Amino acid sequence: MEKGCSAGKTLSVIVPAYNEEGNLLPFYEALKPVLMRLPVHSEILFVNDGSDDGTSQRIAELALKDRAVKGVNLSRNFGSHAAILAGLRLSTGNAAVVISADLQDPPEIIAELLEKWENGAHVVWAVRKDRQDPFLKKLFAKLFYFMLRKTALPNYPAQGMDFGLFDRRVIDALSRIKEMNYFIFGVIVWMGFRQEEVPYSRRARTRGSSKWPFWKRVKAALDAIISFSYVPIRFIVYSGLAISLLSVVGAIILIVNRVVFGLGAAGWPSLMVTILFLGGVQLVTLGMLGEYIWRGNDQAKGRPQYIVMDKINFQEEETNESSAYQNLDRG
Ligand code: UDP
Ligand code: MG
Repeated sequence: MEKGCSAGKTLSVIVPAYNEEGNLLPFYEALKPVLMRLPVHSEILFVNDGSDDGTSQRIAELALKDRAVKGVNLSRNFGSHAAILAGLRLSTGNAAVVISADLQDPPEIIAELLEKWENGAHVVWAVRKDRQDPFLKKLFAKLFYFMLRKTALPNYPAQGMDFGLFDRRVIDALSRIKEMNYFIFGVIVWMGFRQEEVPYSRRARTRGSSKWPFWKRVKAALDAIISFSYVPIRFIVYSGLAISLLSVVGAIILIVNRVVFGLGAAGWPSLMVTILFLGGVQLVTLGMLGEYIWRGNDQAKGRPQYIVMDKINFQEEETNESSAYQNLDRG
């Protein structure tokens, strides 16, 4: 990497953390030497997403030791996407890296991300070549990314990602988006700019458990697809049309049977099947509409995407109080 071209540039490392007390110190110890070797100045910004273990104390301890460590405590758990957004909004670097606190994403990759950025990329995704996760988790992830690419974001990397580097221009544009229930990396893919990828192997989690239980993942998957795609609604319309068409064909067959061959109707079992089938289709249909409606409703309320409770190691001039609360005074 050309040392000269990055002179004076700064990098922020954003780390969302939810109940990661056991991971923070080993993570910091793995990250710091990597950052020291980079040709840029860096800050580490931990966003404590409403943890109820010792995460905030660990962050405060690190911040006391190292002035380059900053901390933000959110007022409750808002989900990692909101925590990442909070971190990006409060970051000051010319670029920012987002990385998990659990050491599943190796910090050494940051050097490669930085190099691509220096060479002109605005977004550099660290894309998983492979992941050491349980079989079912991998299967669901595969299915989700397949659906996402088919129905919403064809450019979304097929293996997914939650680690990457973003240029200041991307961060500023992202900071202005006030979408609720959103899928932050989907929004970044949607935004455009010059996006590149760096492949890496995702390691298994060694401490603590995943902070994304199954139903949270389902919710995030629906958020992602619904905020980018009307395919589910179109699916309702087409399946409604297909079912109606089918019933017309069925009616014609019944009439022909009766009039031409003198046969009677099939009786109640076939009726039950039809009723249950249509009942199910209607419930799914209403549910799908509901998913869109409640998100629209959430958006209309105009609540903030997250609330900052307090900050550690922020200098007065860079503490832009309004940025964290900018959703409170919309319009
Ligand atoms: N995380 C967060 N808030 C949440 C869930 C997760 O800030 O509500 C953080 C978590 O501490 C970790 C990162 O987001 O640093 C990725 O989460 P996790 O490792 O649980 O996800 P997985 O790797 O299982 O997909
Ligand atoms: Mg993880």
